[in-house]
Amino acid sequence: VELPIHEAVLGRAAEFGDAPALIDGTDGTTLSYEQVDRFHRRIAAALAEAGVRKGDVLALHSPNTIAFPTAFYAATRAGASVTTVHPLATAEEFGKQLKDCAARWIVTVSPLLDTARRAADLAGGVKEIFVCDSAPGHRSLIDMLGSTAPEPEPAIDPAEDVAALPYSSGTTGTPKGVMLTHRQIATNLAQLNSAINAGPGDRILAVLPFFHIYGLTALMNAPLRHGATVVVLPRFELETFLAAIQNHRITGLYVAPPIVLALAKHPLVAQYDLSSLKYIISAAAPLDARLAVACAERLGLPPVGQAYGMTELSPGTHVVPLDAMREAPPGTVGKLIAGTEMRIVSLDDPGKDLGPGESGEILIRGPQVMKGYLGRPDATAAMIDEDGWLHTGDVGHVDENGWLFVVDRVKELIKYKGFQVAPAELEALLLTHPGIADAAVIGAYDDDGNEVPHAHVVRQPSAPELSEGEVMMYVAERVAPYKRVRRVTFIDAVPRAASGKILRRELRERT
Ligand code: ATP
Ligand code: MG
Repeated sequence: VELPIHEAVLGRAAEFGDAPALIDGTDGTTLSYEQVDRFHRRIAAALAEAGVRKGDVLALHSPNTIAFPTAFYAATRAGASVTTVHPLATAEEFGKQLKDCAARWIVTVSPLLDTARRAADLAGGVKEIFVCDSAPGHRSLIDMLGSTAPEPEPAIDPAEDVAALPYSSGTTGTPKGVMLTHRQIATNLAQLNSAINAGPGDRILAVLPFFHIYGLTALMNAPLRHGATVVVLPRFELETFLAAIQNHRITGLYVAPPIVLALAKHPLVAQYDLSSLKYIISAAAPLDARLAVACAERLGLPPVGQAYGMTELSPGTHVVPLDAMREAPPGTVGKLIAGTEMRIVSLDDPGKDLGPGESGEILIRGPQVMKGYLGRPDATAAMIDEDGWLHTGDVGHVDENGWLFVVDRVKELIKYKGFQVAPAELEALLLTHPGIADAAVIGAYDDDGNEVPHAHVVRQPSAPELSEGEVMMYVAERVAPYKRVRRVTFIDAVPRAASGKILRRELRERT
């Protein structure tokens, strides 16, 4: 795969012509493939004329809109590396990111302009802020469509040049800038193709954010590469989401576990016609097998399939192929994709490879392993060893047929008197209680200094009386004694990152 990412994705755009590429899920505005192709070339020309050069970092700061992909591919065509930014980032957070990657350009939207300006002031070094829509005093991507400048032809080396510079979610610490080359992203798209193979006529709902590598791959690059239609929503809000599935006859959903939870449990779901759906894939955080099945049964679909990956892996290594969703064992995150190697090594003795059924740290080697963390050679060396194996920090095991099961993160495991307890397992169990709407488990210390599982529970509105004792009893009746929940706190909502991950460190800070 030796094409820059905009060529790898939009190479067949002309062939798809008038077919809808992107539809705004709130007002129905549509961009055809021909338009995305033409628009991104014109904007690339205008960006180059404005001074964007090969190797410059451009920050794309926007919620999901139909303009987002055009802006992204225009920037890479002009030779820039795109760092995607959380649209809810504060000016301080955004400023830190701009400074960390020495960004020279920002593309934002008018409602976020104030934040972008303040971030640019804090960071210094930003030459210009463009807007996708329009705002006084700023060049707009819409005006750039009229540019007559020549199309830029930067000499992009797909193997070396960084196309995307997403930041990891910051679940375990400070988000780190991840350098992904054109080749790494394009190769991973090709590797995932056997599973994520939506084509013309398929309609994908982009409700997870494009700025995160999961959305960037599954909701933008992959469907646009294959001529599918992407219906875009700016944020997850259950009723709008359900209405969009119904009204746009969505065929495929790529979501994170909290959305699967809503689809499985929320009463509103029954009021919508979701019969157009053919499959649901979940990734980015642990999904319990029972939930995957419950959601699918309610909607009359095959069990929710999973995929596994991380920002540092461009992002995918495992997926349940669409044609194997019925036979895949419940709870698996999928099979290793082509051209990738995996080892599972002992947590106590890291040199020791483990066999089927034995849980250890997941190690990955392959063409999708990141180039490195930006400006953090030590962190890169800690993550990727001399032989090229990336140490994921995740614990898992495979069965005899090679299906992978992710247990939890190494760092999240709770050590109760020498036994290891995975918070994800307890969270999944808690969710099977009819009175529990959501749950998160962290390690806390009891009076004797033992680390113990501490559950944070959101009650269902229908179960306001659910007590701590009942929650503890429910778990105690269903797990080995060392896994028992020994403390319960009721909360209003589980704090989560945009990718659906539980922010356990926020809960830890509260206790
Ligand atoms: P940071 O590295 O900054 O702490 P993060 O690891 O959450 O943040 P991401 O790259 O977005 O940042 O997430 C990758 C992680 O998500 C994986 O290491 C894994 O723990 C988790 N993950 C991804 N897919 C799955 C899945 N299907 N099941 C369980 N966990 C998953
Ligand atoms: Mg990580």
